[in-house]
Amino acid sequence: MGAQRLIFLGPPGSGKGTQAARMSGKFGLAALSSGDTLRREIAGDSAVGRAAQAYVSTGQLVPDDVITDVMLAAIDRLPRSAGFILDGFPRTIPQAEALQQGLAARGMPLHGVVDFEIPDQELVVRLAGRRVCTGCGMSYNVGSLPPRAAGVCDRCGGALAQREDDREDVVATRLATYRRQTAPLIDFYRRHGLLHPVDAAADVNDVEAAVAAEIAAMGVAG
Ligand code: AMP
Repeated sequence: MGAQRLIFLGPPGSGKGTQAARMSGKFGLAALSSGDTLRREIAGDSAVGRAAQAYVSTGQLVPDDVITDVMLAAIDRLPRSAGFILDGFPRTIPQAEALQQGLAARGMPLHGVVDFEIPDQELVVRLAGRRVCTGCGMSYNVGSLPPRAAGVCDRCGGALAQREDDREDVVATRLATYRRQTAPLIDFYRRHGLLHPVDAAADVNDVEAAVAAEIAAMGVAG
């Protein structure tokens, strides 16, 4: 059981979720996806879901305090010794600062941040081809990462669908939001000595090998 506490940072479509699932299996880490969590809250029509719905469907970020509370609560539900990957959180400097404080207060500092580097033109193609399991949330791509049977999840047999916010008009907003509000985190974590860039435009299995090598080299000290 690994015990690294990690962030996967990168634009939508960069493969964070796919690699979080793979690394979760490989290193025994919990994969905590902020987007999946919000989609579950929306589907369940909870108070958080109702607060988040309009932001998620238009590709804007939900308020910092809402998502920070949700993600710290998810961390608090894990066993204390568990390692985890935060996928999609933090996405702003205030979120990163709140996370830093929250983890420090728990005596659980981060071990590293894997930064998924990829050009915008590649993201547009990937997001157009992305299909997500309506049962377990597993991601596929009609071009680069198809399921074994068309439209059916390899893992749970659920039906695959296109995410509402993967439509072309919303994708443009999400990419602009990433560059404006989330990309500053790259410098933030570089300054903290935590940044581990990987070439996320490579083939999915090559990205997997690169991410695994970065995580293995981080160890669990601290
Ligand atoms: P994702 O599945 O990571 O692309 O997230 C889907 C949507 O959920 C985003 O477009 C935002 O509306 C919302 N969201 C996810 N994570 C965050 C976050 N850390 N801060 C604010 N909004 C978020």
